[in-house]
Amino acid sequence: MGVYKLVTYQEEKSSLKKLMKQMFFWEILQGMGLTFRQMFTKPITMRYPENKWVMPERMRGQVALVRDPKKPDEDLCVGCCLCVRVCPSGALDILTSRGEDNQKVIDDYFLDMTRCLFCGSCVEICPVNALVNTDDYELSCYSKDDLLFDKKAMLNTGHAWRKRIKIMQAKGLKEQSVITVKPAKWTSQKPDITEEELAVASKAKA
Ligand code: SF4
Ligand code: SF4
Repeated sequence: MGVYKLVTYQEEKSSLKKLMKQMFFWEILQGMGLTFRQMFTKPITMRYPENKWVMPERMRGQVALVRDPKKPDEDLCVGCCLCVRVCPSGALDILTSRGEDNQKVIDDYFLDMTRCLFCGSCVEICPVNALVNTDDYELSCYSKDDLLFDKKAMLNTGHAWRKRIKIMQAKGLKEQSVITVKPAKWTSQKPDITEEELAVASKAKA
């Protein structure tokens, strides 16, 4: 014996609607319409790594050493070892000796970026502002050895960061601006960048 089901007028209408939608590929048309509309809207994504954001001023990126801009041949670091002691992950080490007049000489400085937490404690505690957190966050590499920095590498990174900041300030670039750079020139391994190599993709709104 057949089973009869009571179908209300509303149910019948909605199933007819469903059938019509299926017949005319309504969902596909809707999707294509959305795609078509997006062709005329401004993209919200960017072509990283060619294009990238200018990082905020207080960004805690790669740790670097800087020298006094007025005395570029002299170390700003006085070898107090406060940064080494405060580092929670033991990422820093320093090698000092006594030079002429019993002055402390910084023979080498070591940073293991594989251990760094980007906490910024070393930068905060440095009494002479010899350490900085740069805006560099692109630290991917093929070998962990590339993330071990000595004094020379840290000074290079700090020097390149200062140069970059200077160029960006001169161009009036700030947070939320988009810049275009050659990717290889932006990494910690080849940090130097010239004004010509940095193009402004879009400036942040004032
Ligand atoms: S940022 Fe923090 S974890 Fe990294 S080296 Fe400095 S103190 Fe150590
Ligand atoms: S805290 Fe500053 S001055 Fe002291 S050893 Fe570290 S970098 Fe040098």
